[in-house]
Amino acid sequence: MDFKNKVALVTGGSNGIGRASTLGFAGLGAKVVIVDRDAAGGEATAGIVRQKGGEALFVQADVTDAKSVQAYVKKAVDTYGRIDCFHNNAGIEGKVANIADYDEAMFDQIMAVNVRGVFLGLKYVLKQMLAQKGGGAIVNTASVAGLMGSPGMNAYVASKHAVLGLTKTASGEVARQGIRVNAVCPGPIDTRMIHDLEKQLNPGDPGKVEATYQASIPIGRYGTAEEVANTVLFLCSDLAGNITGAHFVVDGGRTSTPGAVT
Ligand code: NAD
Repeated sequence: MDFKNKVALVTGGSNGIGRASTLGFAGLGAKVVIVDRDAAGGEATAGIVRQKGGEALFVQADVTDAKSVQAYVKKAVDTYGRIDCFHNNAGIEGKVANIADYDEAMFDQIMAVNVRGVFLGLKYVLKQMLAQKGGGAIVNTASVAGLMGSPGMNAYVASKHAVLGLTKTASGEVARQGIRVNAVCPGPIDTRMIHDLEKQLNPGDPGKVEATYQASIPIGRYGTAEEVANTVLFLCSDLAGNITGAHFVVDGGRTSTPGAVT
């Protein structure tokens, strides 16, 4: 894999999976644009890239706001001239509660970040990629929650199913222009998000939730942010030239054989 002379833009690049893909792109030669609402984390990610001799730009933005999204695309293009790879990744988990008790404002907030944010990113980055006329590669971060239900997580589950719908639709719209659009579906990954969910499910003993989760994963542990990022890098690389409209599960085998470890 080689991203020399390429520009990669990552939303949610201040932390977790997005930081790992940003560092991965940069390590393989790309100039990277980090988009996030978390300025401290974004500058820290950019600092790591620069320390290693790479080029990085951080743009603070809220992915739910169309003006912010247009602004981050413009800033990326004004700075580096183009966008070749886009990891459309920012997302939130929200609160855990069954549908009958679910807070409506929380539902709207999760949909705003995880669906509207992904849609707006696709819309304005695709406009730019189409105008460049040089193709491109996009990976949306969905989840295994985009493939199955999960009690207590209705809005998150619905939002990640929607990310797969956007991925499939976008892929068909731009395939003839040489732009590939895929999704990655992580299972439980060792970032802030999974540890927040553990605390919500058992505030007194989150470690117990972690142990139960990990026992349900055939590989026997959470995935790492880098393992998800490696899949994103592959899908954005020329090695994946015939792959579009697809989703890749990175979950240690959990959805294939839930609880079935011998
Ligand atoms: P994380 O919380 O470490 O990272 C999410 C990033 O998105 C943060 O930097 C946050 O500031 C940013 N963000 C959130 N809302 C934003 C907004 N409105 N505008 C701009 N930036 C915003 O968590 P993560 O695990 O790295 O999550 C990355 C993606 O992976 C998310 O889409 C998440 O749903 C998905 N995912 C995570 C897991 C997991 O177990 N960690 C599993 C499946 C899918």
